[in-house]
Amino acid sequence: MYPPNFEYYAPSTLAEAIGLLDQHQGEAKVLAGGQSLIGMMKLRLAQPGALVDINRIPNLAYIREDAKGLAIGALTRTAELGRSEVLRSRYPILSDAGLEIADPTVRNWGTVGGNVSHGDPGNDLPACMLALNADYTVQGPKGSRVIPARKFYPDSFVTALKPNEVLTEIRIARPGAGTGSAYSKMERKVGDFATAAVGVHLVVGQAGAIDRAGIGLTNVGPTAIYAAAASDFLAGKTGTAADLAKVGDLAAEAAQPIADNRGPVEFKKDMVRVWTRRTVTHALARAKGGK
Ligand SMILES: Cc1cc2nc3c(=O)[nH]c(=O)nc-3n(C[C@H](O)[C@H](O)[C@H](O)COP(=O)(O)OP(=O)(O)OC[C@H]3O[C@@H](n4cnc5c(N)ncnc54)[C@H](O)[C@@H]3O)c2cc1C
Repeated sequence: MYPPNFEYYAPSTLAEAIGLLDQHQGEAKVLAGGQSLIGMMKLRLAQPGALVDINRIPNLAYIREDAKGLAIGALTRTAELGRSEVLRSRYPILSDAGLEIADPTVRNWGTVGGNVSHGDPGNDLPACMLALNADYTVQGPKGSRVIPARKFYPDSFVTALKPNEVLTEIRIARPGAGTGSAYSKMERKVGDFATAAVGVHLVVGQAGAIDRAGIGLTNVGPTAIYAAAASDFLAGKTGTAADLAKVGDLAAEAAQPIADNRGPVEFKKDMVRVWTRRTVTHALARAKGGK
């Protein structure tokens, strides 16, 4: 299938890209890896009048860590998440998720910025960013602003981005001692979107109890979901069998799945329950020095 006609622009600077988006007043879309947008255009689910291809803009693809934490450039390909030693050793939730996204071809084209900007509840990275309490830097005609991931996803395929803004960077605070994280995904077959997936990030204090935690859920609601009650419940807990049972129940309560070809509602809620227990257990083991 062919998409409807559109204008195509390939700016070489961010300012030019923002100017083009602004000029088209909501009729233009950013084109990054094209792995979601082009498919939607071919199905006529999206019909932008113009595409602003940001792939020729330099310095938007990087993973680097400084004293404040991790910075990921929007044009970083999702394949890089699975390859990065910094992520594997210090932000493993992102390497776990990076290895679970689609297949190698999609991961080589698709970008981290596109994955989090698309607003698809089935995309894996938004739940990780909710768990990590990440910040998104976006640039528009009036300069840059920072949007917390936890305020970025109001509804399905709707985000806090304005039509004339480009997401340029994702920032995550530097993890201290006792930090652990993990992402687990249940899928029908390799390469599929999640039936349910869970991202957990937590910090264990010196006494061995959890200081704070963040839990994000994928594809069990209209948006990626921050499971706030489940996250808050973990504070002060050590991960006993009773703690794990309760946190699983609270995460399942936060899920709002619909029945579809990946399963009925109760099955999906049960998968959230089970995979939350497992993912918290995995993150706790990592926080205590395990892999
Ligand atoms: C067969 C297949 C299987 C897939 N399976 C999975 C999966 O299991 N898990 C998963 O997470 N994803 C999956 N995806 C989606 C894939 O990861 C996409 O790459 C991702 O959703 C979008 O990234 P992109 O760079 O391709 O963005 P594009 O398709 O180029 O853009 C997507 C949307 O984001 C906007 N956008 C992109 N970048 C920016 C930016 N920097 N600033 C502002 N707006 C921007 C675009 O305007 C568009 O609205 C799958 C895709 C395919 C084709």
